[in-house]
Amino acid sequence: MISYRSTRDNGVHISAAQAIARGISADGGLFVPETLPRFDAAGLEGLRALDYKGRARAVLGGLLSGFSEEDIAESVDAAYGEQWDDPAVTPLVRLSSGLYLLELWHGPTSAFKDIALQLLPHLLTRAMTKTASGKHADILVATSGDTGKAALAGFAGVAGTSVTVFYPREGVSRIQKLQMTTQSGNNVGVCGIDGNFDDAQTAVKKLFGDKALAAELECKGRTLSSANSINWGRLAPQIVYYFHAYCALADAGEIQTGEAVNIAVPTGNFGNILAAWYALGMGLPVGKLICASNRNRVLTDFLATGVYDIRRPFYATTSPSMDILISSNLERLLHALTDGDDRAVNSMMIGLATHCRYEVPEAVKERLTQRFAGGFCDETDCAATIRETFAEHSYLVDPHTAVGLRVCGEYMRRTGDTAKTIVAATASPFKFAGSMLAALTGKAPADDFAQLAELERLGGRSMPPAIAALRGLPERHTKTCRKEDIFAAARELLGV
Ligand SMILES: *Cc1c(COP(=O)(O)O)cnc(C)c1O
Repeated sequence: MISYRSTRDNGVHISAAQAIARGISADGGLFVPETLPRFDAAGLEGLRALDYKGRARAVLGGLLSGFSEEDIAESVDAAYGEQWDDPAVTPLVRLSSGLYLLELWHGPTSAFKDIALQLLPHLLTRAMTKTASGKHADILVATSGDTGKAALAGFAGVAGTSVTVFYPREGVSRIQKLQMTTQSGNNVGVCGIDGNFDDAQTAVKKLFGDKALAAELECKGRTLSSANSINWGRLAPQIVYYFHAYCALADAGEIQTGEAVNIAVPTGNFGNILAAWYALGMGLPVGKLICASNRNRVLTDFLATGVYDIRRPFYATTSPSMDILISSNLERLLHALTDGDDRAVNSMMIGLATHCRYEVPEAVKERLTQRFAGGFCDETDCAATIRETFAEHSYLVDPHTAVGLRVCGEYMRRTGDTAKTIVAATASPFKFAGSMLAALTGKAPADDFAQLAELERLGGRSMPPAIAALRGLPERHTKTCRKEDIFAAARELLGV
């Protein structure tokens, strides 16, 4: 059975079910698997015979200790059913020779977060029953835009849970905002903050460490939990689609089984790309992992210098889900690349909290750059990529995916690496209709729904039905607060 420990305390040994129920370790660390199950060549061939659900059962079965085979099968069946508008769940599209887009946005909220957040409620409620004597889970979410809606959609109406979302009021697209403010259900709360994603994430992490709040909730049979990618239950489901994409390439005859592929991921909190790194650790043949940032290029600089330094301006960009300076999941990678040195991780994280920076030892930097290539894309190049991709391939890439595509292209030109490459397409372009039109035509109508209609006309394809349906929905959540007041707002929304 795979055991999980904290990045800040190797003395912690728990099951995946416990890790998912707790979200974050009491020492502030994140839970990481001590070992990984491996798929050898025969194992990979075996996966090829399965559909998405079968692959999910196989990949997750080895990782999710503390859950029965039946738990996993039932959860997977519920998560990857009719709510996806493509039978492949995450279809792979060939953009040009050797370059493929893994469309991760066919779920109910049109961003890749659905892959994990359609599954997490099923895992979490089972985990709570097993490990926390069926306590009510109060899920707190900090969102840069897409996680919020995906968590609301996943947890709305789920017995034994409630979900409270904090988003940066001025830092999300208007469609993203509408998706959250119109959410129905009586176990959901949403609050816009005057601050950015890092403010929201830092506050939520602090709430998890608030002993008085924990004690008050405990008395009422409740406990805090997390649906952010600091929760292992968010990362594990994302490993599946990298195996799925590899199988799709092999099925289409684009690669031989065993051939290494590169994976490029537009990155914010370092969750999605870390899932690809775990897939590699589980035996997926991967060459380079290409980490693409927008103008908030803290990760690009980190990969180039080994210094993680957040003393820099924070930019609001057209790829808001990547407007992040503190990439939480990097901590998991640091733990692995220091061979599980929890003390080293602690001191780096203390450095970040107190001096806003840390530096990794040379040996870690070397291991890092052996596997990861970094790059960033500014706003002009992002818009140009949207325009060029549409002109050349009649394909609409959203601004996040455009960042990934751009950085991937530059990496290939710079290095001459010709390995076949999968680019994670992380959101539907219709979530960012205003920015899409600005990039494609230089102008956009002021009204959200006029923008959507214009993008449909121009792009020659229809918007996801859930986005079309936003038009008739009342805005139910209008609460806002200053960033200093998130604690009070959280207490109010939690009713304690
Ligand atoms: C969340 C998100 C990202 C960044 O993913 P991380 O796992 O935080 O690195 C990129 N694109 C979109 C559309 C997202 O919603």
